Amino acid sequence: MEGRYHRQKLVNVMGVAWNQDKLMNSTVLIAGMGALGCESAKNLILMGVGKLIIIDNDVVELSNLSRQMLYRDQDIGSPKVVAAKRNLTEMNPNVEVESYYDNIECISIDVYRKADIFLSSLDNFEGRRYLNSVAVSLNKPFIDAGTHGFFGHVRVIIPYVTPCYECYPPKEKQRVWCSLRRRKPRDLFNELEKYGIKGLTLDIVEELFLRGYKTELDLKYAKLKNLVSVPGVSEELAKEIQEKIAPKLPAILTTNAIIAGIQSQEAIKVLLGLPRSVEMFRYNGISGGLDCLTRTRRADCWLCGLGDEAQQMNVDSNATVFDIKVQISQRYAIPDPEIAYREHFPLGEELRLKDVGLKSGENIFVISKYLATPKTFKLNFIK
Ligand SMILES: [Zn+2]
Repeated sequence: MEGRYHRQKLVNVMGVAWNQDKLMNSTVLIAGMGALGCESAKNLILMGVGKLIIIDNDVVELSNLSRQMLYRDQDIGSPKVVAAKRNLTEMNPNVEVESYYDNIECISIDVYRKADIFLSSLDNFEGRRYLNSVAVSLNKPFIDAGTHGFFGHVRVIIPYVTPCYECYPPKEKQRVWCSLRRRKPRDLFNELEKYGIKGLTLDIVEELFLRGYKTELDLKYAKLKNLVSVPGVSEELAKEIQEKIAPKLPAILTTNAIIAGIQSQEAIKVLLGLPRSVEMFRYNGISGGLDCLTRTRRADCWLCGLGDEAQQMNVDSNATVFDIKVQISQRYAIPDPEIAYREHFPLGEELRLKDVGLKSGENIFVISKYLATPKTFKLNFIK
């Protein structure tokens, strides 16, 4: 009798034979078990990738069932990872599935270390940025995917070889408000007024502000349970804030299946060491077009760039910690940096760098919720 993987073992690409043992010994981490995550996980598990690590913080809802093929009516209300794990191991009992019902940034770095490659099926910019920083710091391949109705994209990121997510950031990055501007709750309240959120008062915005929600983006990417813990914010209000600021995007299963097909196929190619040349795929399901792009890595990328521009900052010798925070947030769109110098952390904003003993040419460390590990910058005093 022919084995489970007989037909795929017949594949040979330019002299490189299919290596099923290599797949069986591989571990793939999938962040986000929505429509893309379900499809990619199903593809990889059926093809005999030995182990999947799946992470998702959500429960199954009725509106998921038209796209997210691992869930059934009886799964409504259950964590997605629980239903996904059950169905995936049923599809192929020879593989292992490890699941985490949590936010990606709450998962230990040791879990990420176990994976050979990361797949992102997230629907938000903040999560992609975080996963990219894990990939660059651990030097692991990272394949990002996203869809919007009939459109979708896949990005293959091989740290220090292809551009990382920060090399060519999406437009939204340019729109990041700097929360370090001397903003007041009234500024945020005025911005939110245009959404017509019922029951949102200046008092509540002041409470939000106190807890670090200073911009629309802070609210857009906040976890619902964190918003609900703010005094005056009911679950109903938290949901309305997020639905108005970040309405759900249109999505259809067919586009998700196509994009996840490309994403999981690229993952298989990386795992098997097969030839690969495209760095980004852009799919248009209306015209039927697939654009394949290859861009070069940016030497000045603040995260994966190795040039001086990426690793050094020139500052006035009288600069305060606040001045450095503003420079970092404006140059690199990191709206919430904390600075560490040697054993000093966090550094008070009013301190001058030289007051804490920092000399020109020494390193500071930048800590942010967008970063898995602190980023080092060498500071040069220019006067
Ligand atoms: Zn980069």
